Amino acid sequence: MAGRICRTAEEAFRLGWEEPCDHGFADPGECRTCRLSDAEIARLAVLLNGLATPAPAERLAA
Ligand SMILES: [Zn+2]
Repeated sequence: MAGRICRTAEEAFRLGWEEPCDHGFADPGECRTCRLSDAEIARLAVLLNGLATPAPAERLAA
C-alpha cells in the first residue's frame, strides 16, 4: 500500500490531519503537543490573509 500519491496540498493536509499523532491521540487537535496554540493560529491567520491579498502589481497595471 506504499506509494499513495497526494495530488493536492489540500489532500495531503487532510490525510495528515486525520492521522493519529505520534503521542497516541486519534485526533491531533486533542493533543497538547500537536495542536496549535492560540498565538500560532493568530500568526497563521495573518500569513494567510497576506497571501489572499491581491498583488500590488495589479493596481499598478490598471
Ligand atoms: Zn501529538
